[in-house]
Amino acid sequence: MSARRTVTILGATGSVGRSTLDLLEREPGRFEVLALTAHSDVAGLADAARRVGAKRAVVAREDRLAELRSALQGSGIEAAAGEPAVLEAAASGAEWTMAAIVGTAGLRPTMAALRGGGTVALANKEALVSAGGIMMDLARAAGATLLPVDSEHNAIFQCLAGNRAAEVRRIILTASGGPFRSLGLDAMRSATPAQAIAHPNWSMGAKISVDSATLMNKGLELIEAFHLFPLPLDAFEVVIHPQSVVHSLVEYRDGSVLAQLGAPDMRVPIAYALAWPERMETPCERLDLARIGRLDFEAPDSERFPALRLAREALEAGGARPAILNAANEAAVAAFLGGGIGFLDIASIVAETLRCCDRPAAQTVEDVLEIDRAARGEAARIMQKYSR
Ligand code: NAD
Ligand code: MG
Repeated sequence: MSARRTVTILGATGSVGRSTLDLLEREPGRFEVLALTAHSDVAGLADAARRVGAKRAVVAREDRLAELRSALQGSGIEAAAGEPAVLEAAASGAEWTMAAIVGTAGLRPTMAALRGGGTVALANKEALVSAGGIMMDLARAAGATLLPVDSEHNAIFQCLAGNRAAEVRRIILTASGGPFRSLGLDAMRSATPAQAIAHPNWSMGAKISVDSATLMNKGLELIEAFHLFPLPLDAFEVVIHPQSVVHSLVEYRDGSVLAQLGAPDMRVPIAYALAWPERMETPCERLDLARIGRLDFEAPDSERFPALRLAREALEAGGARPAILNAANEAAVAAFLGGGIGFLDIASIVAETLRCCDRPAAQTVEDVLEIDRAARGEAARIMQKYSR
């Protein structure tokens, strides 16, 4: 029997982390879990670590170590805490690492995993948006394999398989349009966090759910796609597709358009990354096209959803702009979720931060994190006048 494949999950207690664990648990003989990490959910982390028999469980919050130790008592699972311990877990040499921490908090752990030269399944789009070429260069230099887990990028990756990149004419990212797709501006102005995170098709963490409602998620994904699939910027398009059945499309120079379809369940793209280059069984609902009946498509409305345009402009301008956009958005989304600002203020704050804040292009991860800090500071200052 061949040795089990070693796996580490960064962000194991989140939505993507839990979906990954679900797949691992279905094939217990196939994977050996080296480490699971979480920010502060000690109970969720300890429970997951016991279920999959992880060697180590790491909580980022240092003050939760005693709690984690007691939750793991008698299990033989090693407990650790603090950011250095998260980085150590990321660098533990797993053959396959799921990068599913949310936000630029995941940048250093993702880079540490890539440095190990194994396979990194990337969900943490904010890290790639901020670090861009720095991350892609490291992946290449380390001989790591970066597999996209974001459903659109995973779909594109699947549509590219067996074809030549030089023959691609266009990449079309689909977007559900989120919960406010057909809402007027006035209703959007008074939208609550609970309404914003109630996504019509996908069940996800709070931050990405808000990003889906503003369409900033698609903006970040445009930047993500540009780094993963190097084509001229005007080769990337976004189309609204409310059913979230077609996950993205690739057009070739002969006019053929390939698409990947499936139920909106993250376990499909995660399974693809886990089994690649093979495939594995999943418990996901099978696509019933007759029941779905119709698939709709429409152009995005940049009046009601300015975030998509802001992201495209940041990508065109390059340098530090995508990292500033991302940091301002993370700060504004956190403020919105905390009840401090309104829904439409999110994009306004990002736009104003981009106007006020500038920095030279990053050369290193430290530079990226410095840009991130500066942009968050600027966004916090701007936010004061929006506070309610
Ligand atoms: P989530 O909020 O549900 O989970 C985030 C995870 O990151 C948790 O395990 C949390 O403990 C950990 N974390 C948060 N802050 C941390 C910190 N400072 N240090 C260490 N760990 C920290 O988020 P999610 O929805 O699972 O999304 C994770 C990432 O995957 C995001 O970048 C998101 O954009 C991307 N993504 C998610 C989905 C989805 O369906 N949820 C789909 C595509 C891409
Ligand atoms: Mg996506």
